[in-house]
Amino acid sequence: MSRNTVEIAGQLKGLLIRGSPLIEEYTTQTCPGCADVCCRQKHGLFRERDAVYLTALGINVPPHDETRPPEGPCEFLGNEGCARPRWLRPFRCTWYFCDPLLRAMNDGPRKKARALSALLQEMIGLYDELKG
Ligand code: SF4
Ligand code: SF4
Repeated sequence: MSRNTVEIAGQLKGLLIRGSPLIEEYTTQTCPGCADVCCRQKHGLFRERDAVYLTALGINVPPHDETRPPEGPCEFLGNEGCARPRWLRPFRCTWYFCDPLLRAMNDGPRKKARALSALLQEMIGLYDELKG
């Protein structure tokens, strides 16, 4: 594991921790009324690059319950939403914004939306730099 990868993973973790409350300002408005929750088992699986990220942080990739149907609810989904802190979720759980979430961003304060967009771009850049 190169030092660079460790640094990138550490920076990404920091941004995920910093960005989570900003994202939750939108999800807490939008998700409780959702009729088609996106948290399916297949979406909560860790990809190769997520594994690079977790390994660089010294964390083992958590096992998944392979008996659960891919289209069924994610095993980490609880009554209060995701049971995992954002920095320990697959990255797609953070970058995926459904149409209602995008509308909430567009309809809300511009400054807040711009700040979150910039943070997400920074996160995506770091995630892209993590090579499997
Ligand atoms: S992110 Fe969108 S699709 Fe997923 S639970 Fe929230 S409102 Fe529903
Ligand atoms: S946000 Fe959490 S509950 Fe939803 S798919 Fe990702 S890991 Fe599963």
